[in-house]
Amino acid sequence: MKELDFRDGGLLPLWEKVRSGVRLTFEEGLLLFETEDLIGLGKMANYVKRTRSGERVYFVVNRHINYTNLCVLSCGFCDFARKKGLPGAYELSTEEVLGLVEPGIREVHIVGGHHPDWPFERYVEMVKAVHQRFPHVQIKAFTAAEIDHISRRWKLPVEEILTRLKEAGLSSMPGGGAEVFSDRVRRLLFPGKAPAERWLHIHRLAHSLGIPSNATLLYGHIETYRERVQHLLMLRELQDETSGFLAFIPLAYQVGETKLVQRQASALEDLKTVAASRLLLDNFPHIKAYWVMVGEATASIALNFGADDMDGTIGQERIAHAAGAESPAGLARERIIRLIKDAGKVPVERDALYHVIRTYS
Ligand code: SF4
Repeated sequence: MKELDFRDGGLLPLWEKVRSGVRLTFEEGLLLFETEDLIGLGKMANYVKRTRSGERVYFVVNRHINYTNLCVLSCGFCDFARKKGLPGAYELSTEEVLGLVEPGIREVHIVGGHHPDWPFERYVEMVKAVHQRFPHVQIKAFTAAEIDHISRRWKLPVEEILTRLKEAGLSSMPGGGAEVFSDRVRRLLFPGKAPAERWLHIHRLAHSLGIPSNATLLYGHIETYRERVQHLLMLRELQDETSGFLAFIPLAYQVGETKLVQRQASALEDLKTVAASRLLLDNFPHIKAYWVMVGEATASIALNFGADDMDGTIGQERIAHAAGAESPAGLARERIIRLIKDAGKVPVERDALYHVIRTYS
């Protein structure tokens, strides 16, 4: 079995566990974030990535659609939300949503604000309309936070909401709205949003109904390393129970106008978070390098730090870009392929559920 050199000898016992397939503990997870041996950490994560996906890196030709920025909440990290009647506020009609589904895409990723008064039927109609007009396009829509909002706003059971959306054509759920599973951070930054237990409960229900989903962590603001590890272990626990998560996506906080910290997390912090996620989430099939938030250069390096998925071509993304993300507003297929190849990997085009469309060897 392969030997690795470590500058931080404290990582050696962890490496013994990783290569024997033994699960890491909370305290060991903390060590992953606290070590200064970024290269040693990356090598361990890359080992795990290679045992699972070889040199393959997945991507999907997709389109993000943010149906409204009207939101009843005002999360402390958000530059996207607007109140009704204020400049910049918008809401898309179902026809406008349909107009954004471009030919050739495999997946639409539909998320938005917590709209003050859209009835549940409007969400169902949106999903149904996309599904009917573009039956070959898989619909990944509505975070658990949005589902929680609809449920509370209209006093509808979550199970009923998810069942109706699935019947309308929903194929999976995105992982947003999780933020950080910490009551402390929640109280300070997003007190009105679904708490950890509710977010996990909604995903548990979705998985039981045959709706797979993703999971996220918003890092690089006021959260601590302990809170990051706790968050990852809570996801790992639910995945043990349901096996319904497809991918984990670390989301780098964008400073924008909210300025919770002086500057965005460094590339070093981005890579560390990707690698630690790969090592702790031993039951998650895929870890994404989300280029929209960390930029193309860091995302490309992350493919050697445990990530095996580049997300997608995106089209026009509004949420991170409202907070000043500097990545281009959409990466064409050819460019994403080149980026993966430049990282020494084999691009694999997939659909929303990780069925392989084409390998670009
Ligand atoms: S993060 Fe989402 S829920 Fe929070 S204010 Fe922004 S749009 Fe609304």
